Amino acid sequence: MKVARVIVDVPSRDTDRTFDYSIPPQLDGWVEIGSRVAVPFGGRALQGIVTAFAADAEVEAAKVKPIAELMDAMPPLSAELVQLGEWISKRWLCPLTIALQAMLPAALKGKAEKYVFPAIGAHWTEEETARSGGLLLALGRGEPLKLASLLQQYPDQGEQLKLWMRQGRLEERQRVENRMSVKTMQTVFAPDADKLRQAMAELPARARKQHEVLAYLADNPEPIAVERLAEALGTTSSTIRALADRGLIEVRAVTEDRDPYANRHFPPSVPMTLTPAQAEAIAPIIDALDSRDHRAFLLHGVTGSGKTELYLQSIDRCLSSGREAIVLVPEISLTPQMVERFKSRFGAKVAVLHSRLSNGERYDEWRKIREGRAQVAVGARSAIFAPFERIGLIVIDEEHETSYKQEESPKYHARDVAIERARLNGAVVVLGSATPSLETYAASKRGIEMGYISLPQRVADRPLPGVRLVDMREELKLGNRAMFSRALHEAIVSRLEKKEQMVLLLNRRGYATFVMCRSCGYTATCPHCEIALTYHRGAQTMRCHYCGYAEVEPKTCPSCESPHIRYFGTGTQKVEESLAETFPGIRVIRMDVDTTTEKGSHERWLTEFKERKADVLLGTQMVAKGLDFPYVTLVGVLAADAALRLPDFRASERTFQLLTQVAGRAGRHELPGEVIIQTYDPEHPSITSVQGHHYEGFVRQELKLRHVFGYPPYGRLIGVTLSHESVPMLLSAGQRLATRVRELATAERIGSDFAGGNGDALEILGPVASPIARLKDRYRFQCMVKYRGDVDASRLVAQALRELEEAVKKNGLIVSVDVDPQMML
Ligand code: ADP
Ligand code: ZN
Ligand code: ZN
Repeated sequence: MKVARVIVDVPSRDTDRTFDYSIPPQLDGWVEIGSRVAVPFGGRALQGIVTAFAADAEVEAAKVKPIAELMDAMPPLSAELVQLGEWISKRWLCPLTIALQAMLPAALKGKAEKYVFPAIGAHWTEEETARSGGLLLALGRGEPLKLASLLQQYPDQGEQLKLWMRQGRLEERQRVENRMSVKTMQTVFAPDADKLRQAMAELPARARKQHEVLAYLADNPEPIAVERLAEALGTTSSTIRALADRGLIEVRAVTEDRDPYANRHFPPSVPMTLTPAQAEAIAPIIDALDSRDHRAFLLHGVTGSGKTELYLQSIDRCLSSGREAIVLVPEISLTPQMVERFKSRFGAKVAVLHSRLSNGERYDEWRKIREGRAQVAVGARSAIFAPFERIGLIVIDEEHETSYKQEESPKYHARDVAIERARLNGAVVVLGSATPSLETYAASKRGIEMGYISLPQRVADRPLPGVRLVDMREELKLGNRAMFSRALHEAIVSRLEKKEQMVLLLNRRGYATFVMCRSCGYTATCPHCEIALTYHRGAQTMRCHYCGYAEVEPKTCPSCESPHIRYFGTGTQKVEESLAETFPGIRVIRMDVDTTTEKGSHERWLTEFKERKADVLLGTQMVAKGLDFPYVTLVGVLAADAALRLPDFRASERTFQLLTQVAGRAGRHELPGEVIIQTYDPEHPSITSVQGHHYEGFVRQELKLRHVFGYPPYGRLIGVTLSHESVPMLLSAGQRLATRVRELATAERIGSDFAGGNGDALEILGPVASPIARLKDRYRFQCMVKYRGDVDASRLVAQALRELEEAVKKNGLIVSVDVDPQMML
């Protein structure tokens, strides 16, 4: 007996395996790998995905139940995506269903609906029927009815329904349903004009409105929505319906796309003639595309070097070979200009997928891809799962961005998924950035798994903007306690006079969590980890979240004995107020999480700024990304070093990337740009390197540090976070886990010495309190596995966790694993 192996949508370790179902004859030939099915499971109806077929069931044939329903005629996932899902679940240690569900649009995340219908032989008295207010009549028609709708329609019959169900007079059945369906529009299709005239002749003369409808259709033969036709003629839809009932016209439901860009016009663009540098850069990409080999490239080009034009032309080449392309951009709603460029070049071939779309819009864009109506998918992280079947090219713009890592399960990194997916498809990957992540940079320099392409100059030899560092400690010494240094103050005044524009960045990540001396810039770091200590107000201590080291909060600066030592804190709102006070009449657009919650608000702010309705665009990280405005000639950064103090070994890298990126917003067109960076730490390599636009210099130093501490790219990490109401419970579970991982590593003769050499090594740190030490009344502790070489640490951790499983279940511990964490929370 042929059976389908199904992964049911219950995300737990127990159900993280396939279950066998038989294929009913009517579905034979329709069920494929990747099909979404509804199956009976322990008395419930569940959604599942078919991942394999087998000639025989694992259990005896009589126990195998049939698939209840096939949810879609065309499977939403391909065999390739199922395979990719299996890889993700192994790589990031999550149940397969979680990986598969992450690939489906929200609209296809089925939910079980209860239906009721009269049991065979059940009957009701006339009095009961009368009292039910139409309910029993409705049920008597034979079709099972949705319980939720019945309760809504007959709100006072709830008790009665429950009773009948308990008595067995009503039976219940579950069905898995989509959360959302395609949008349909009732549309009129008219026969040809001769038939219409004939129909008009046969209509009784008093049906005046119906005559009008037919006459209109004779003149306007295109299909038209019923509602629009009724509106145009000042009649009702029942008039039109009546004509359809007589068979004179046809009314059919037509699916309609909810297109979020329907009302926007994108002026078409044509490929530019490439500069010699661009032509040289694109050559290896084109070669790889033409040879249909899987290849990956880092395209390392400064801001404004023409990377996007190269993406566009590579995609063009890919499409003309009959294949499809995926473009990932960090957070697409922040970069509307990017969407514009792709829509302008490729028009209707582009489907756009991002988080600000409604579920319906997202579903419709997804269907364009699935049904072969789009060949280019532009989107944020999850667009990597675009259901294409002939992928030739995957582009990741700003590949260093943290938003490519998903922070909830599956905790995948889109960059790694892209490379795996491209490998499965023989496709080319292009990772673009002005400030590549150290992992990607190191891989491309090794040159084995990735090629390196460089574009060190801006297009048309436009200069990179000059960068000035302002030492805020000096400002304080000279008595300037204001938010703006004298240099920045003057620069703002001059832009206001010249009617040019400014971008001001307040680097807010990590605020109020670190302790810093305002006089000398000293910050406390862990002596063992080279990581800033985090301030804990409650205990008035500073702690290292990597190894647990702690010390008491100092009253004076340990370095210069100044009493001006304090933890930091200021927000964009305060800056906005300060701007208004200092520069009367200044027009400011503030863009941060508070002002951009509304859908479309980013676009609105950016359009206003583009139309020069404001002098200043002030904001957090989101003003640093991808914006291109010709009149921006000044970029100011307040508190550049804020993020340097985060308890994260990537803090320096992130700071350098952010500052370089925001600096790139200035002087992109004819007017030259200037960048002023205010800092308490003007000697820090993350900051000095921005001044020289000196990526290589920064990276060389940073890589040395990473090597010493065994951090990526020299080692890799797995974070395990445990949470529970009781701290002793957490500590003992954490210690058991750490001990077990250590034992398993020792059994496999893996050393723990990171200082010496480059061989295999594994070390487990912790348990220590997590940076967010308590969440929703649960304490959180973490262990960090650091490893190097060919060690399969995921397997060791998975095994140790399996052994802990019993205790985890019994005590209600919650365990979450993060492979290659980008952020420790
Ligand atoms: P990046 O993506 O590296 O920041 P862009 O592709 O946005 O760079 O290019 C920067 C600017 O230069 C844009 O305004 C773009 O239109 C222009 N540009 C890019 N390539 C060319 C070219 N070959 N000829 C003329 N202008 C170009
Ligand atoms: Zn430490
Ligand atoms: Zn000091």
